[in-house]
Amino acid sequence: MAERLCGFESHLPHHFLSMSSRKYLLLLNPWAYDFTAYDFWLRPLGLLYLAAIIRQYTNYELDFIDCLDSSQIDASCHFCPKHRPDGRSSFFKEEVSKPEIFHHIPRKFSRYGLPYTQIESRLEKIAPPEAVLITCTLTYWYPGVQAAVELVRKKFGHVPIILGGVYATLCPDHARSQSGADLVLTGPGENQILRILQEIDGRDQFKSTDELPAFPDFDSLPWPAYELSHNTSVLALLTSRGCPFHCTYCASHLLYQQFEQRQPEKVVAEVRHFWQTLGTKQIAFYDDALLINKDRHLLKILEALAGLNPGLRFHTPNGLHPREIDPELARWLKISGFESIFLSLETSDTTLLAETGAKVSPEDLKWALCHLEEAGFDRNQISVYLLVGLPGQDRSQVVESIRFVKSLGARPRLAYFSPVPGTADWRKLVESGLLKDDSDPLLQNKLVFPYFWSRFTPEDLDDMKKEAARKSTG
Ligand code: SF4
Repeated sequence: MAERLCGFESHLPHHFLSMSSRKYLLLLNPWAYDFTAYDFWLRPLGLLYLAAIIRQYTNYELDFIDCLDSSQIDASCHFCPKHRPDGRSSFFKEEVSKPEIFHHIPRKFSRYGLPYTQIESRLEKIAPPEAVLITCTLTYWYPGVQAAVELVRKKFGHVPIILGGVYATLCPDHARSQSGADLVLTGPGENQILRILQEIDGRDQFKSTDELPAFPDFDSLPWPAYELSHNTSVLALLTSRGCPFHCTYCASHLLYQQFEQRQPEKVVAEVRHFWQTLGTKQIAFYDDALLINKDRHLLKILEALAGLNPGLRFHTPNGLHPREIDPELARWLKISGFESIFLSLETSDTTLLAETGAKVSPEDLKWALCHLEEAGFDRNQISVYLLVGLPGQDRSQVVESIRFVKSLGARPRLAYFSPVPGTADWRKLVESGLLKDDSDPLLQNKLVFPYFWSRFTPEDLDDMKKEAARKSTG
């Protein structure tokens, strides 16, 4: 409850903190600096897992600031985020100067999330923490980290700042030299964070003098500390980490060395807990490979959730593997409350599919849509991801893919290729001289490929978007 009191809206707990001998840590999810951004059920899940570990094993108070939580926007801001009933939301944005590297791109660049002044005055009201933990979800959102670090330094001077998350893991050299953080933590942080706190502040705040705990697998972690969040009606959930596939454009295997699935009963217990204690209504499954081993994993979860009948709505923003969708799974997806279905096809070009990972075929998509329709889903409500901007990809391949998805009655959804360091497609671009090994992570922004290294022009991209949005006439 103490952490709850430390929430964004109350000032009292911070006076309380400054009078207390208890020490506290500040956890911060920074803004997104981008050409565009949208809250697609985004939650700083890694940071919330670390918060749960810290809370379980230490006496630190935790203060959590999520710059991307639109539900906390100040009334004085005169901006009303558009919250969709399914939990997605628009962000408030403030235009900022465009990075020099993007000077020729005729689009505005903005800071998305809560107003800068709101975060600034929030920090004014709190006492200096023992340390600050910052995350960053996308590599090219690192200007948000820099801005947050600068602000923290301005308010608290040389407080230790620890940076983790996707940017720190995929671009550690850049993060070490450019983020301003004191320590860059790569990979999952559960087996690192307590040791780091011990090095910074000793063991005074630890609940036990025993050896530090080890977390051998995903299920050994406590559930994320969602009660620190302001908006608990919409949560993100992971039933697994990693992916058994190795698609040439994907960083999943770089973030998680192995594919690990949780025990279904523990997932169900977690869902039940948050539904009962926090009033959660929408849950987005953020697994990379939710349907793998479905008979002993997702089906077990769905059967239990359907029996529980919590009236929750589920979403799959990361895209499901169409190959795994059979009549039984489709039926359970419907019964258990899946609302927005996103499927991954990437392209209907079978040669390109084979070259990039062969995880799916156009035929798989046809069958998946049939099964989902028979189970009661409207094809028109099913989105199918198509990749745009892959190295060597032709405009005609994308247009054909869009038409193919539309011919099946589903909605094509363009997903722009981002060249992630360490992937096969990144190496291809480096070897061909189109990117450098140490290129600025800003170039991984998924919207800039037509201006740097793709065969597509910005006009091509506009045409593709129109083609995808155009209603089928047939
Ligand atoms: S199947 Fe999806 S998550 Fe797995 S490697 Fe391919 S793109 Fe990544």
